[in-house]
Amino acid sequence: MQIPGHIDPVPVPRAITPREDGRVDLLGLSREQIRAELETAGLDAKQAKLRAKQIFHWLYHRGVTDFDAMTDIAKAQRPFFAERFVIGRPQVVEAQVSSDGTRKWLLRSDDGQDYEMVFIPDADRGTLCVSSQVGCTLNCRFCHTGTMRLVRNLTPGEIVGQVMLARDALGEWPRGSMASMSDDENEDDDAPQYSPDGRMLTNIVMMGMGEPLYNFENVRDALKVVMDGDGLALSKRRITLSTSGVVPMMARAGEEIGVNLAVSLHAVSKDIRDEIVPINRKYGIEELLSACAAYPGANNARRITFEYVMLKDKNDSDEDARELVRLIKKYKLPAKVNLIPFNPWPGAIYECSSPERVKRFSDIIFEAGISAPVRTPRGRDIAAACGQLKTQAQKLSRAELDRLAEEKQAALG
Ligand code: SAH
Ligand code: SF4
Repeated sequence: MQIPGHIDPVPVPRAITPREDGRVDLLGLSREQIRAELETAGLDAKQAKLRAKQIFHWLYHRGVTDFDAMTDIAKAQRPFFAERFVIGRPQVVEAQVSSDGTRKWLLRSDDGQDYEMVFIPDADRGTLCVSSQVGCTLNCRFCHTGTMRLVRNLTPGEIVGQVMLARDALGEWPRGSMASMSDDENEDDDAPQYSPDGRMLTNIVMMGMGEPLYNFENVRDALKVVMDGDGLALSKRRITLSTSGVVPMMARAGEEIGVNLAVSLHAVSKDIRDEIVPINRKYGIEELLSACAAYPGANNARRITFEYVMLKDKNDSDEDARELVRLIKKYKLPAKVNLIPFNPWPGAIYECSSPERVKRFSDIIFEAGISAPVRTPRGRDIAAACGQLKTQAQKLSRAELDRLAEEKQAALG
């Protein structure tokens, strides 16, 4: 029998899904990986290096998907690339816009796996909530994604692809001259650079479907591309990785990715956390908080966020709030607390705490000198809570669900 929280990460069946036409999809590859692909295709070392640099720029900085648009690559050479490579995007199954501006997409991979991404615009920022896995093995009791039967890690291409698709949808690729990249033929126009009102997509949170630290390498490689100054160029300060507490991977996350850390704490006693976040049975609260205290790069300017879902009569008492303060102080954590009103889904066994309870809980933490804002629910009219869109789509397709379940059995051997 499977014990929730004790399941090892499920491997990706294939790193890159082979395409029927034999071409290689460059989406998600690093500069170095593109260079290696070009060498395999027959370019000499010098050409491969130069072209990889150019293609990387077109791919991630400019959002180009057509080699013919790569104006600093000789026209005669472009078909060579187009015959061997593509620059893909995740397929969009469904796109919704909420009355509050929140946008949600259900995406499908080449091998028919569905996953979600959500864009949340605010006054001063626009946050893209990115998925790291299809489903999740960790089965947190209040989380809809945890109920999904099928789990597969997303590839770097599928993770970066979400950001690329969001930029496409928001129309946020820069146009204009390539002065810094000048090589043989620079035919580009003189269109203006970024739009004067700035970009909408400013922040990324790895808080969509899945546990990012159970797909560490792919998440790391994808975020490296996202952070690359000649790529999507998002600062690590604007990226947050949320983990349910995969303690052994936290130090590596700090060292090798270096983004902001959010931890799904959700409870302050062993009993309750064991119940609602079952990975706690493997890595307990004290161990988790020690790993937070050791997280590289955490300081008062870059605090660790503790996510705390407000569940009625479960984890929302005054004592819970005081214990949370005590723990944060005990481990001297540069912390802020993010109180998340529970977002109900059909079949959930919990209810959200009352607004008064949430307010009181927040006040106790604030009074102790720790910031504890309440997250405003967004996109409720489009079921923007993690995992909901996927399940709604699946309800319509029983046959597909059965096929996916069979695939999961096959993948698990
Ligand atoms: N697996 C990672 C990241 C994805 S979940 C993690 O657990 O941290 C992102 C956040 O949404 C987590 O804090 C998660 O606990 C929370 N969450 C999941 N389902 C929720 C629900 N129904 N209502 C409110 N928050 C939820
Ligand atoms: Fe997985 Fe996070 Fe949901 Fe838990 S809360 S089941 S770790 S996605």
